[in-house]
Amino acid sequence: MSDGIGLAEQLLGLDGFKVLGVTEGEHELVIAVETTASVTGCWSCGVLAECQDRVRVDIRDLACFGRPARLVWSKRRRRCREVECPVKTWTERSVHVPPRALLTCRAGIEACRQVGELARPVSGVADELGVCWWTVMHAVERHGRPLVDDPARVGPVVALGVDETSFLKANREHPTIYATGLVDLDGKKVIDVVEGNAAKDLRRSCAGTDEKWLKAVKVVATDLAESYRAGLSSHLDHAVRVADPFHVVRVANRCLDTVRRRVQNELLGHRGRKDDPLYRIRKLLVSGAERLDERGSSRMLLGLRLGDPDDAVLGAWLAKESVREVYLTDDPAVAAVLLDKVIVGCLADEVPEIRSLGNTLKAWRPEILNHHRTGASNGPTEGLNLCVKKVKRAGHGFVSFEHYRLRVLLHADGVTWPSRPKPPRIRTSSPHSNA
Ligand SMILES: [Zn+2]
Repeated sequence: MSDGIGLAEQLLGLDGFKVLGVTEGEHELVIAVETTASVTGCWSCGVLAECQDRVRVDIRDLACFGRPARLVWSKRRRRCREVECPVKTWTERSVHVPPRALLTCRAGIEACRQVGELARPVSGVADELGVCWWTVMHAVERHGRPLVDDPARVGPVVALGVDETSFLKANREHPTIYATGLVDLDGKKVIDVVEGNAAKDLRRSCAGTDEKWLKAVKVVATDLAESYRAGLSSHLDHAVRVADPFHVVRVANRCLDTVRRRVQNELLGHRGRKDDPLYRIRKLLVSGAERLDERGSSRMLLGLRLGDPDDAVLGAWLAKESVREVYLTDDPAVAAVLLDKVIVGCLADEVPEIRSLGNTLKAWRPEILNHHRTGASNGPTEGLNLCVKKVKRAGHGFVSFEHYRLRVLLHADGVTWPSRPKPPRIRTSSPHSNA
């Protein structure tokens, strides 16, 4: 039935298969195939097997010359002729089609690449291939999991960043569900995403990690979350803990915001409205002092004059600015002096929120100063957040954390995708050639 010169097989490009016929369907190309192995022995005893009957299997392959392609594999069911043999019948297999799969390996890998590397929605890829959502997701799992589990994806890590990211937004059934991202701060690579943000979640993840790999970690940067500090304990006690500068300043900004809202409420008896003096300067307050121009500064001072009779907001603003000043120096000794001044000042303040800021800073003093000793910060985890955002947008909400994790890690750098042929360019187009 084949064309006899192997032209059709060459086009198909699946060795071990013979093309029986090609028909043009309404929206697809239908290619009838069978394997070339017409004679074979029993896989158990080796006695020559006979073909009992055939099973028709429909498989989706990569599109062919712009048309979706369907392989119709007329699969032989074989029977062992040996009466004593425990094996009765079996159907043929091929390395190009995983057992029970609806996609050929090459189509499955491409679907995985589209969903993982390019962060495309599963439904879009499924539509294109003419299969259901689950078929594509199974292909992503089948071909993507080995790539994610590959030990070469994450080599030894010296500086580890731990950052919180949200997994599911709050709804009627549950509050916001968080996840914890682990990032290689030097390589700027996402290492893993762990479900939850509690100490036990991090501890569970550490417990499942290679002891030697953990020992190689020298620095860990986190935000000021007690749960992370506790969660890293015992497994990563040998590493230098760093409180991420961005998060330290954010704690001071939050303190300022809380004081502003309270004072506003006490003075006016309602939450901030657009004409309230403090509400109007809320953004000026949290921007860095050096970023305010003259007009900004006078607007801020006017707002404080009108809305802050006891100078509580001003006090919180000064505290925030002095926290930021700790990062103006690279010298650990100078930073220690500055930080101690902030802590003493905050603890002596009349405003309870500022005293509480002082307590937080005091509790994290070694970690805050370790930034100056190591230079580590969670800046590179920005890559994690971008990655998470893209995957979330493609996913339109996730049900399974495992799927979410797999897609985030496939989209992150570090995955070694199977190589694809890079076609040579046919002609360098010159802007003048078609004039
Ligand atoms: Zn047999």
